[in-house]
Amino acid sequence: MSKIQMTTPLVEMDGDEMTRILWKMIKEELLLPFIDLKTEYYDLGLEHRNETNDQVTFDSAEATKKYGVAVKCATITPNAARMDEYNLKEMWKSPNGTIRAILDGTVFRAPITVKGIEPTVSKWKKPITIARHAYGDVYKGVEIKVPGAGKAELVFTGEDGTQIRETIHDFDGPGVIQGMHNIDKSIESFARSCFTYALDTKQDLWFATKDTISKKYDHTFKDIFQEIYDAEYAAKFEAAGIEYFYTLIDDAVARVMKSEGGFIWACKNYDGDVMSDMISSAFGSLAMMTSVLVSPKGYYEYEAAHGTVQRHYYKYLKGEETSTNSVATIFAWTGALRKRGEIDGNKELMEFADKLEKATLDTIESGTMTKDLALITTLENVNAVNSEGFIKAIAERLK
Ligand code: NAP
Ligand code: MG
Repeated sequence: MSKIQMTTPLVEMDGDEMTRILWKMIKEELLLPFIDLKTEYYDLGLEHRNETNDQVTFDSAEATKKYGVAVKCATITPNAARMDEYNLKEMWKSPNGTIRAILDGTVFRAPITVKGIEPTVSKWKKPITIARHAYGDVYKGVEIKVPGAGKAELVFTGEDGTQIRETIHDFDGPGVIQGMHNIDKSIESFARSCFTYALDTKQDLWFATKDTISKKYDHTFKDIFQEIYDAEYAAKFEAAGIEYFYTLIDDAVARVMKSEGGFIWACKNYDGDVMSDMISSAFGSLAMMTSVLVSPKGYYEYEAAHGTVQRHYYKYLKGEETSTNSVATIFAWTGALRKRGEIDGNKELMEFADKLEKATLDTIESGTMTKDLALITTLENVNAVNSEGFIKAIAERLK
């Protein structure tokens, strides 16, 4: 059998713990036998990040700008315990945060739906994709615990010294205040990433805020989306037969519950934090979610939505059997391969991505799955397999 050829490399970002083990199995069993795989390899495993003073993370993000498409394995974000465990020189920052800052992107998360894993909301027939704005608002808020009576004011001082001043509240006793901000440029990037991704995936785009109450703050989000849509995307949306629609956040929540799915829901930072957990748990599990970072310039980084599955890794190290779900990591690869194929006009590569996804879903639908899914499936006669057994079963089907 001749292997599928690639013309441009993918940026490959290896990672940590159990997902690093799955990464290797996926390449050996599901990719290398079928594709003459071209990648530019960056080892984002914590040991190598530490050796390179995290330079490797920056280099991998720059490479993504050069080639356009990356695939990333889950990585450890160090905390105090990891400092000791890996004898780190510094508490290196989250690689996802570093890469997102360099690519200026938005993360889109969508459930991978399969027969036998039914959403809690029975009306949902298609995936709901959440796009979360990842800058500012309450996440960069400044807060004061007001000790007692007094006046709280909001003051902006321009570079020329002119001031804008608003009274927040005249306190007659203790309370709390909070100042938060966002930046037009960041909201513009968010909007462009959302419009680009909607066109890419041919799905309607919903956006919602509370602009009736927040007449300047949230209204700015609404206006920026609308201006960019009208100027740059309206004609393209029409040609693609998709719709952009804005509504109030409470109306959006009600509509989402009554919808059939199949659209992108763009959310402000806090809304996205909360709603993505609701959507992922209502659809099944984090191990059945795709996640892609899309930059407003059209660079793509595909990953799994879950972490490095540390608990399973420690069992693996002790030689115990694990049953870790590799679906999200497999879909990170298929997402990246399909996008690479699309950009390069490589039809064979795109078809391979489709086939690998189908083989993965068919394997589950036939009853062979990892333990996490076996616990929640509505299928009968389930064959719960270990990490390797699942990947091998997919490989059999793919052949
Ligand atoms: P996690 O890796 O998401 O796993 C938490 C638990 O969820 C697991 O113990 C397991 O439950 C279940 N789970 C998650 N993914 C699974 C899969 N593929 N198959 C089966 N079960 C799965 O989170 P964590 O263990 O708390 O975090 C480990 C490391 O991941 C941390 O160092 C964190 O910094 C990092 N992290 C990285 C990313 C990223 O790179 N994108 C994202 C989040 C976290 P059971 O143990 O009950 O089986
Ligand atoms: Mg959350």
